Amino acid sequence: MAAGRGARVGVLALQGDVREHAALLAALGADVSLVRSPAQLAEVDGLVLPGGESSVIDKLSRLFGLREPIAERIGAGMPVYGTCAGLILLADRILDGLPTQLPFGGLDVDVRRNAFGSQVDSFEAELEVPALGEEPVHATFIRAPAVERVGPGVEVLARVDERVVAVEQGALLGTAFHPEVDGETRFHARFLEHVARVSGP
Ligand code: GLN
Repeated sequence: MAAGRGARVGVLALQGDVREHAALLAALGADVSLVRSPAQLAEVDGLVLPGGESSVIDKLSRLFGLREPIAERIGAGMPVYGTCAGLILLADRILDGLPTQLPFGGLDVDVRRNAFGSQVDSFEAELEVPALGEEPVHATFIRAPAVERVGPGVEVLARVDERVVAVEQGALLGTAFHPEVDGETRFHARFLEHVARVSGP
């Protein structure tokens, strides 16, 4: 598991399942820190946006002075991996967001919050993800979003029923589900490969 040896990566630690991501990235060999300030953001070469509640993370990011710095780093090419609420925050456009809710943006997609409806709060599925190899991904969806528009530079990595639930655009990766709760390491390893490529010698 040397995918992330030495890469300096952060997990946005304002709300959500921060610890699970940090533990997984550390197990892959990355140098992981929690990001709650612009100074901490400046120290990392890549950022994970965790699952949680996207409107709360949005609000806290403004309070902590992180919103503009994160959007700027994304615009400058920093690799980012967003899961669930993190995918919502990475999208250029949020559907069914709160009236004041804004994403950081960067990923040329429209993402609908709670796309699988309140009746089906959470579910699990086996997903084919050819980009990660033959073994299917066991995916846990928790009040999950879905991608409803995909821009021309965006690659669809996985679907559940006809819905797009994993995408990649350059060094930006997003999943509507939570690999970190299932011990699925391949998405995080892929994120660390982006970090190594972008920040490498
Ligand atoms: N429904 C949540 C939101 O809108 C996302 C849920 C999750 O991250 N598990 O932010």
